[in-house]
Amino acid sequence: MHEATIAKNIIELIQTEFPELNCKRIYSVKLRIGELSGIYPESLEYYFQELSKNTILENTKLSFEKAPIKVICAVCSTIFEIINMDYDCPNCKNSQFNIIGGDELEIINMEVE
Ligand SMILES: [Zn+2]
Repeated sequence: MHEATIAKNIIELIQTEFPELNCKRIYSVKLRIGELSGIYPESLEYYFQELSKNTILENTKLSFEKAPIKVICAVCSTIFEIINMDYDCPNCKNSQFNIIGGDELEIINMEVE
Protein backbone atom coordinates (compact mmCIF):
# COMPACT_ATOMS: atom_id res chain seq x y z
CA MET A 1 0.00 0.00 0.00
CA HIS A 2 2.99 2.21 0.69
CA GLU A 3 3.96 2.13 -2.98
CA ALA A 4 0.39 2.84 -4.14
CA THR A 5 0.38 6.11 -2.22
CA ILE A 6 3.81 7.04 -3.52
CA ALA A 7 2.82 6.27 -7.11
CA LYS A 8 -0.29 8.43 -6.70
CA ASN A 9 1.78 11.31 -5.33
CA ILE A 10 4.28 11.12 -8.18
CA ILE A 11 1.51 11.12 -10.78
CA GLU A 12 -0.20 14.09 -9.15
CA LEU A 13 3.06 15.99 -8.87
CA ILE A 14 3.92 15.50 -12.55
CA GLN A 15 0.38 16.36 -13.63
CA THR A 16 0.63 19.62 -11.70
CA GLU A 17 3.95 20.46 -13.31
CA PHE A 18 2.98 19.26 -16.78
CA PRO A 19 1.78 22.62 -18.18
CA GLU A 20 5.13 24.18 -17.28
CA LEU A 21 7.06 21.44 -19.03
CA ASN A 22 5.60 22.70 -22.29
CA CYS A 23 5.64 19.32 -24.02
CA LYS A 24 3.28 16.90 -25.72
CA ARG A 25 4.05 13.88 -23.68
CA ILE A 26 6.45 12.34 -21.19
CA TYR A 27 8.41 9.32 -22.38
CA SER A 28 10.10 8.40 -19.17
CA VAL A 29 10.64 9.41 -15.60
CA LYS A 30 13.73 8.47 -13.66
CA LEU A 31 13.52 8.20 -9.91
CA ARG A 32 16.22 8.06 -7.30
CA ILE A 33 15.29 5.77 -4.43
CA GLY A 34 17.23 5.63 -1.19
CA GLU A 35 18.16 2.22 0.20
CA LEU A 36 16.52 3.14 3.49
CA SER A 37 13.25 4.25 1.93
CA GLY A 38 11.81 0.72 2.01
CA ILE A 39 10.34 1.21 -1.46
CA TYR A 40 10.21 -1.73 -3.86
CA PRO A 41 10.74 -0.43 -7.41
CA GLU A 42 8.78 -3.32 -8.97
CA SER A 43 5.81 -2.59 -6.79
CA LEU A 44 6.01 1.15 -7.40
CA GLU A 45 6.15 0.55 -11.15
CA TYR A 46 3.09 -1.67 -10.98
CA TYR A 47 1.00 0.94 -9.17
CA PHE A 48 2.32 3.69 -11.39
CA GLN A 49 1.09 1.86 -14.47
CA GLU A 50 -2.27 1.07 -12.89
CA LEU A 51 -2.92 4.58 -11.57
CA SER A 52 -1.64 6.44 -14.63
CA LYS A 53 -4.23 4.90 -16.96
CA ASN A 54 -6.22 7.61 -18.77
CA THR A 55 -3.80 10.31 -17.68
CA ILE A 56 -0.96 12.06 -19.52
CA LEU A 57 1.34 9.51 -17.93
CA GLU A 58 -0.38 6.45 -19.31
CA ASN A 59 2.56 5.25 -21.45
CA THR A 60 5.35 6.78 -19.46
CA LYS A 61 8.17 4.45 -18.45
CA LEU A 62 9.64 4.50 -15.01
CA SER A 63 13.27 3.84 -14.34
CA PHE A 64 15.19 3.78 -11.11
CA GLU A 65 18.51 4.64 -9.62
CA LYS A 66 19.41 3.45 -6.13
CA ALA A 67 20.78 5.95 -3.64
CA PRO A 68 23.15 4.48 -1.04
CA ILE A 69 22.96 5.16 2.66
CA LYS A 70 24.84 8.35 3.48
CA VAL A 71 26.42 8.87 6.88
CA ILE A 72 28.62 11.29 8.77
CA CYS A 73 31.46 9.93 10.90
CA ALA A 74 30.91 10.63 14.60
CA VAL A 75 34.65 11.03 15.15
CA CYS A 76 36.05 13.09 12.26
CA SER A 77 32.83 14.31 10.55
CA THR A 78 33.75 12.83 7.18
CA ILE A 79 30.67 12.23 5.05
CA PHE A 80 30.65 8.89 3.23
CA GLU A 81 28.34 6.32 1.68
CA ILE A 82 27.83 2.78 2.91
CA ILE A 83 28.77 0.53 0.02
CA ASN A 84 28.87 -3.27 0.26
CA MET A 85 28.12 -3.17 3.98
CA ASP A 86 31.39 -1.40 4.68
CA TYR A 87 30.66 0.72 7.75
CA ASP A 88 34.17 2.02 8.40
CA CYS A 89 35.00 5.66 7.92
CA PRO A 90 37.40 5.98 4.93
CA ASN A 91 39.29 8.69 6.81
CA CYS A 92 39.71 7.46 10.40
CA LYS A 93 38.46 3.84 10.15
CA ASN A 94 35.97 4.36 12.97
CA SER A 95 32.57 2.78 12.59
CA GLN A 96 30.51 5.19 14.67
CA PHE A 97 28.36 7.38 12.51
CA ASN A 98 25.03 9.11 12.12
CA ILE A 99 22.79 8.51 9.13
CA ILE A 100 22.12 11.67 7.12
CA GLY A 101 20.67 10.29 3.90
CA GLY A 102 19.43 7.26 2.01
CA ASP A 103 15.69 7.51 2.56
CA GLU A 104 15.03 9.91 -0.30
CA LEU A 105 12.68 9.54 -3.22
CA GLU A 106 13.12 12.09 -5.95
CA ILE A 107 12.56 12.61 -9.63
CA ILE A 108 15.97 13.11 -11.18
CA ASN A 109 15.16 13.10 -14.87
CA MET A 110 12.27 13.27 -17.32
CA GLU A 111 12.32 12.63 -21.05
CA VAL A 112 9.69 14.64 -22.87
CA GLU A 113 8.52 15.28 -26.40
ZN1 LIG B 1 36.01 9.32 10.57
